[in-house]
Amino acid sequence: MSVTTETGSTTFTSLNPATGDVVGEHPVHDEKAVLEAVQRAKAAAEWWAGLGWKGRRVRLLNFKSAIARNLNEVARVIHEETGKPVGDAVFEAVGAINLLDWAARNAGKVLGPRSVFPGLLAINQKAILEYHPLGVVGVIGPWNYPIYTPMGSIAFALAAGNTVVFKPSEYTPGVGVLLGELMAEAVPEHPVFQVLTGYGETGGALCRAGVNKVAFTGSGPTAKKVMAACAETLTPIVAECGGKDAFIVAGDADLDAAAASALWGAMSNAGQTCTGVERIYVVESVYDEFLGKLTERANKLKAGYEEEGTSFGPITMPRQLDIIERHINDALASGGRAVVGGPESVRRPFVDPVVLVDVPETSSAICEETFGPTVTVSKVKDVDEAIERANATEYGLAATIFSRSRSAIEVARKLRSGMTSINAALAFALIPGLPFGGTGESGFGRIHGADGLREFARAKAITRQRFKTPLDTTTFTRTEKEVEQIVNLMKKLHGKTYR
Ligand code: NAD
Repeated sequence: MSVTTETGSTTFTSLNPATGDVVGEHPVHDEKAVLEAVQRAKAAAEWWAGLGWKGRRVRLLNFKSAIARNLNEVARVIHEETGKPVGDAVFEAVGAINLLDWAARNAGKVLGPRSVFPGLLAINQKAILEYHPLGVVGVIGPWNYPIYTPMGSIAFALAAGNTVVFKPSEYTPGVGVLLGELMAEAVPEHPVFQVLTGYGETGGALCRAGVNKVAFTGSGPTAKKVMAACAETLTPIVAECGGKDAFIVAGDADLDAAAASALWGAMSNAGQTCTGVERIYVVESVYDEFLGKLTERANKLKAGYEEEGTSFGPITMPRQLDIIERHINDALASGGRAVVGGPESVRRPFVDPVVLVDVPETSSAICEETFGPTVTVSKVKDVDEAIERANATEYGLAATIFSRSRSAIEVARKLRSGMTSINAALAFALIPGLPFGGTGESGFGRIHGADGLREFARAKAITRQRFKTPLDTTTFTRTEKEVEQIVNLMKKLHGKTYR
């Protein structure tokens, strides 16, 4: 168990999933505490927005510096609460620093006021487009990447001029609390970033507390509950949910590189990655060779905690172990074979690598998010069949194609996913300027990049009349002759046939 509590208790403990040790004890924030935090955030929002781009930028860069200076401590808490190796925890925090740095440096450029060409009809107007903050953003986060994932919303919401109330996962509250402390160190003046710990109820209360937007990252079923709660007050949401990402190996792929990348995409973080590789489709001409390279590498990986040679940690959320086990058993019961590991790979709380082949497309191992260090490998006739199978899912988060051909970009375009990498799984996650998000059951809206900044702002249009024109289209003062002139002008400007 990662989390323990007694019904009605006002605190809960976070546990190390590998050892069972208590990592920390945190309050279960109730509805009243949530409302008060949102009120404080509303009061702070005016000050934060009033700082302008420069004022916020310097403070957010200081928040980033505080995380960087405390990188070892941040990584330690991530390591203890999730069980992932310290090195992985460091890289995760580095990713969060990267996001924060980009958001801080680019918000003014992306969201600041700009002139827009007014068009001939309104040539006498100056047209200004700018993006205003929404107010208070409630961020609800998952446990698998407890700093990188929520930072994709937190940094962009703050940089856009909003204040933030963050509800971290009940499995990783300590990471959230530490983030809150580091922000308070960097921005001591007002509570622009507050952290509320607790379970789903605390998240539900946040949705109903009068925030101006909710940025949710977690499972699809919870996203639907969040959406339903937010619907009561027409509060908009951005939903970053799960995936069943495909990895395609074309006949001309560098098979060593493809095997190394597919394995890392599938097994790193014990497969607990929303954009993790879960299904591999390999063109038949290279299937055997690729599978050989993949299994050889997979046999060398091992789950563990702090032992020498550990490749990845335990399954952080205990109930996920049942899902992983069910998917392995379903695959085998429906005619699939395990070429690496098998049911015995589930050594609670650890799962060693499992590579499954010949699994029917209807099996839960192919259709549902597994979120464990397991992967299916399927033979396809050609890349077109691979695309078809890759897209035959309700999810649409990310995908990878390995090919030496320049036309790999066309394959990338055809894959129904928010992000697609060519020749390096998950590379998009390293690039803070690119938008991140899915479609279908993977959610909607975008975090990261310019789109991620706009997600937390509302567009504001302003016009200023610069001079009067003979034809005043914004009053009743127009003559029939002027209308006739407009008709003639329109015929000339827009009446031609286009070829
Ligand atoms: P989860 O849905 O169980 O919980 C996510 C958060 O929602 C937690 O903080 C939880 O306390 C809160 N919550 C639960 N019930 C709630 C309710 N009724 N109202 C409001 N909040 C509520 O998800 P998880 O197990 O923490 O995370 C794993 C899932 O997240 C996987 O499906 C994974 O793919 C997905 N994920 C997606 C992304 C992405 O960016 N697309 C990133 C990381 C993880």
